[in-house]
Amino acid sequence: METDVMDSFESGAMCCDVAVIGAGPAGLMAAERLAGAGLGVRLFEAKPSVGRKFLMAGKGGLNLTHSEAMPAFASRFGGRAASVSRWLESFGPDQLRDWARALGVETFVGSSGRVFPVDMKAAPLLRAWLVRLRAQGVTMHMRHRWLGWDASQDGLLRFDTPAGPLAVRARAVVLALGGGSWARLGSDGAWTQALAARGVEIAPLQPANCGFDVGVGLPARGWSAHFAERFAGQPFKSVALSFDDGHCAPFSRKGEFVATATGIEGSLVYAVSAALREAIARDGQATLMLDLLPQLSPERVLAEVRHPRGSRSLSSHLKGRLGLDGIKAAVLYEILGKEGMADAERLARAIKALPVTVVATRPIDEAISTAGGVRLEALDEHGMCLVAPGVFCAGEMLDWEAPTGGYLLTACMASGVHAAQGVARYLKGGVH
Ligand SMILES: Cc1cc2nc3c(=O)[nH]c(=O)nc-3n(C[C@H](O)[C@H](O)[C@H](O)COP(=O)(O)OP(=O)(O)OC[C@H]3O[C@@H](n4cnc5c(N)ncnc54)[C@H](O)[C@@H]3O)c2cc1C
Repeated sequence: METDVMDSFESGAMCCDVAVIGAGPAGLMAAERLAGAGLGVRLFEAKPSVGRKFLMAGKGGLNLTHSEAMPAFASRFGGRAASVSRWLESFGPDQLRDWARALGVETFVGSSGRVFPVDMKAAPLLRAWLVRLRAQGVTMHMRHRWLGWDASQDGLLRFDTPAGPLAVRARAVVLALGGGSWARLGSDGAWTQALAARGVEIAPLQPANCGFDVGVGLPARGWSAHFAERFAGQPFKSVALSFDDGHCAPFSRKGEFVATATGIEGSLVYAVSAALREAIARDGQATLMLDLLPQLSPERVLAEVRHPRGSRSLSSHLKGRLGLDGIKAAVLYEILGKEGMADAERLARAIKALPVTVVATRPIDEAISTAGGVRLEALDEHGMCLVAPGVFCAGEMLDWEAPTGGYLLTACMASGVHAAQGVARYLKGGVH
């Protein structure tokens, strides 16, 4: 992507009103609002093109936001609900849908209440967005990696570019550098060093909406070789998962997830992943309960298991009486062993409440999103770093988390709007 206006330089530094660094949804939204306010915006991005994670999000169906009412929507941000609610006041789910419509992309509400573009894709939206940003005069600098601030000249931004080192002087900066997952798409979390060196408080980056390694027969980690070989990648469909360790709100939900080579991942697991991650950090492990047949009562399951099976094998019996086979039957064998399977009461109990112990999160790079980041307490109410006047932060690099369901993109874009509003006030010499 080319720079489309003449660069202005002063004492060897490129100059602008606002430098937005990071061209994911948070940075793009901040740039749009800043340019809309009449400010000169330069957008810097380390990768050769913008919005790589946003495009990846579109691969599985771009879940832009959620249609549920605001109190429920805000509650998805847990302990950060109050702060995120302030961002959502200016740009909530309805505004996001209006914004997409204005870019020529209609949205619809799926059966789960999640909101998607009609074609489910991210690319048409991103293309239209870039056309608008260019028309607004946003200057884009790809392959410009921000390295931090110049040690000698306060506030001078340092970049590594294909043409060599570049210094940029901006009246204000919006950092929208993303979290620490899927580093190949650009968000590598390397920014933590520059911000920590500047004295900005940062909570350690951690995986959110992530998979877990199971511990079957502790202390071993992962499934048996037999289970992993046969069932990695296969889904657990129409199951219910519950988790209640007394430290978090009890979780119980129907849905589906997938077995991996070493454990579990997928939407139902992501929904409870923050609580599991906290429990593992505290206790070294966490045990969730799996109901393999949520549509049947425990009494019915026990009656069917006990039903005389004659010369039939236990596997055919479970398949014939309960429709239990494949991965569901295999996980019972995996966790109960032969002895447990032979005990009808124990088996029936396990079908309705199979304890699955998880012992570790999968690495952060595999996670859908990241918890931790710049502490919201390190920012003022307008999103500006308390220790770095004129430096604002937005998006997933901030210390909040939410489940999948469109909450991530909504909050990223809303925080971009919030930071842009903060910058506009700051440059007008308003509240700061
Ligand atoms: C597979 C997958 C599917 C997803 N699906 C959904 C979904 O359907 N719905 C949803 O709500 N969320 C989804 N998400 C999450 C969502 O994509 C992210 O939360 C969102 O993209 C974060 O936006 P951001 O702008 O804060 O950061 P990012 O999108 O990560 O953008 C940050 C940008 O900063 C750039 N950058 C980083 N460091 C530097 C540097 N030093 N100098 C210059 N540039 C730098 C990066 O290259 C990157 O372009 C999904 C995520 C993944 C991985």
